[in-house]
Amino acid sequence: MCVGVPMQITEINYPAGVAEAKGVKRDIGLQLMPEGSLDIGDHVIVHVGFAIEKIDRALADEIWKSLDEILRVINAVKLKIGNMSGIVTDSLIFAFDAVKLEHSLLSDARIVIEEILTVYECSNCNSSFEVDNIYFPTCSNCESLNVTLISGEEQHIENVEMEV
Ligand SMILES: [Zn+2]
Repeated sequence: MCVGVPMQITEINYPAGVAEAKGVKRDIGLQLMPEGSLDIGDHVIVHVGFAIEKIDRALADEIWKSLDEILRVINAVKLKIGNMSGIVTDSLIFAFDAVKLEHSLLSDARIVIEEILTVYECSNCNSSFEVDNIYFPTCSNCESLNVTLISGEEQHIENVEMEV
């Protein structure tokens, strides 16, 4: 699951641009979109600071409606996100902050994200180790490739404080 945020283009200086959502402006990269394919006023999905897809206004509104629904009642949320889960915490925090601007009841809400390191255990020598290279994990002790993922795929909500 990848979290992108719908934003509206307000400035284009290809390959850079500015986009806005909920009154929040952000510099974004446009280099993943063909030059000339976007106009001011277009809606795009922004993912880790890059426009990745052009969408129509209706879809942008629909996505924000879902985000609003999810975030509306939240006072505080603590998430555990494994760094292999595919969730980009930057996008989550931005969406959360943008929704907060619109809902005064949410102004004190906090989001706390605990990123979980990717840890493997080696079946050969039984040592466990953290890895940066999540695609080709090898045991840091004996260099065996016979390893098992212990943590790093988490994507769960630890706890949420909600309006009652
Ligand atoms: Zn080993």
